[in-house]
Parts: sequence; structure tokens; C-alpha cells
Amino acid sequence: MNERITLDQGAGGERMDTFIKERILTYFHIDPSVEVPLGMLDDASVIDDIVFSTDSHTVHPLIFPGGDIGSLAVAGTINDVSVLGATPLALSAGFIIEEGLSLNIFESIVKNMGVCAKKSGVPIITGDTKVVEKGAIQEFMINTSGIGRRSITLDENIEMVKRYRSFDQRWLLDSNLKAGDKLILSGTIGEHGVALLSFREGYGFETEVRSDVAPLNDLIHQALQVGGIVAAKDPTRGGLANTVNEFSEKSKTGILLFEDEIPILPGVHAACDLLGLDPLHIGNEGKVVLGVVNEKAEEILASIRKHPLGNNAAIIGEVTDGIQGVVLQTSIGGRRILQKPMGDPVPRIC
Ligand code: MG
Repeated sequence: MNERITLDQGAGGERMDTFIKERILTYFHIDPSVEVPLGMLDDASVIDDIVFSTDSHTVHPLIFPGGDIGSLAVAGTINDVSVLGATPLALSAGFIIEEGLSLNIFESIVKNMGVCAKKSGVPIITGDTKVVEKGAIQEFMINTSGIGRRSITLDENIEMVKRYRSFDQRWLLDSNLKAGDKLILSGTIGEHGVALLSFREGYGFETEVRSDVAPLNDLIHQALQVGGIVAAKDPTRGGLANTVNEFSEKSKTGILLFEDEIPILPGVHAACDLLGLDPLHIGNEGKVVLGVVNEKAEEILASIRKHPLGNNAAIIGEVTDGIQGVVLQTSIGGRRILQKPMGDPVPRIC
């Protein structure tokens, strides 16, 4: 049978996970010298103490409330390097442009990439540009790759973890959580996906809900300075539900989330109610979930809240061996299992 690739195989959920494992990883040679290999499917990989990550961006439309494909490409790769605990050093930018794209739009996007890279202190130092005939792709796609390195701050953070529990890892990995750890979310969720969907479809919520796209390297560095962080992940495609399930699967431990502690803006709630979406499934581009040792949780939270991107941070859950998978608990005592979305409910958001 001549099988074809379907959209949900690239949509960030359970089907994409299977697609990557069965149809891609099968064919790539496993090199034992790679410290954090591709097969771990973390946000970035590590070889020779260099953290390396890549991401292609196909967001539609190119410009949306709160950002554009350029700021998204720069911030997204900075964030994937930063959540390993690394200091991002430099980026590449690869452009594939459809013939006929407005030069004004192109230049404004590239200009924003420059602004975002400069503000976050991570320069774009290599790149590639291709123009393809009309119809070969839609408008404009950007690939960014990023490298990062370890810092004294990361080493000191790990020393702090070791004061409270055993820890034998050198990076912040999805598989590092243990019973007793707490989860901190850096701010409100759902804005990016809601802003894009609403703007694209003309629902009108975009007047109050804007994308949260932002580089998180400075916020994560600030949290690392407090010390006690074991894992970090940006809840992009598949949203918070996907991120926390990845933590649970890879760390082989249960996670209890406190539903009432998860910060969500009223506009996002309203849009999700109307459109029948779960805000926990919606992608974010400027948020991070940190796994931290219990004893440092309040101090890390206080530090994040002082950062301009972390005012609404909250402790949203805890790691426990008492349950399997991810369980959502409400203040009135109700409990339900929170699964990974099968695919992203809002397509083309990154
Ligand atoms: Mg990521």
C-alpha cells in the first residue's frame, strides 16, 4: 500500500511521537559518544559539551498579534537550548522564500529577528537563503539552529540540587524528575495558540490575547542562579499537557497538577470555552515549566516572579510515585487523568 504522510504526523502530539520514532530514528545511527542523543527527544542534544538544537517554522499567518515568524524562530531556538540549562551562544537562520513574497513583509520579519537576537544577546552568525517558485511552499519558512555551552551557573545549580537529593546528571533533562520535586510554570498559558487561531479565523479574541513569544534565556539564567532546578521544558506544541506527560513518561514517575494553580488569562478561558479547546493543549512560545527540588521551590518562584516575563509564575504541581501518569486535581477534590493531545488542536502555530 502506498501510505502517505498526514498533517497530524507533524503536529506535536502522540502521532508525531510515533512517526518520529518509527520512521526517522530507525534510520539514524546511534553514536555512543553523544552525551544527550537524538533518541532522548529532549529539547536539544549534547555532544562534546556543546548543546545543539534546530527548529523549522511554518507559522501562518507570518505576522500575528504579539509577534511574527522571525521573532518566533529566534526565541524558539534560544528557548530549546536554554531549557537544557545551557547558555545559548549563537544561532543560524535558513530562509526558504516563495517567489512573490512582499519585500516589505520579508524585511520587517528579518529586522525583527535581528532585534530579538540582539535583545537576548544571542547573535545570528550563519545562514542560508533560497527562493523557490510560486506554489512550492507557502510564503516563507524559516529554520533556526542554535548552540549553547555550560556555565558555572549550571554547575552551581546542580551542586545545590545535590544538597537535597541524589542527582547524577550534567544537564536539565526531561528524565531527571523524582518524587518530591515541584513543578513551577513561569506564567499564563494558551495565549500564543489562541491569538493565532483567533486572528487567522477572525474570532476577535486577539484584541485582548496576544502571543507570548519571547526568549527565556535570561529568566532561566536568573532561576539557575537560585539553584535547585533539575528539569526544564518549554510547553510549545501540545501545550502544558504534552510537556508534563513528557516529563512523566521520561522520568517514569507520576505527576499531580493542581488545576486551580495553573495561571490562565480570562480572554484565553473565554476563547477556549467558545471554541471547545482545552487551554492545557494549546501551544505557548514564551513559557517554561521547571522541575525543582522541593526545598528550593518557593525561593525559585520568588526569583522568577521578579523577572519581567515571570510575574504570573506559580507552583502548579508535584512529582509523586503515588500515581501513574499525569493527574489533574481541582480545589474541590475532583481528579482526572490528563493525557497528551493526539495532535495540536491549533495547526501551523509555529
Ligand atoms: Mg522545546
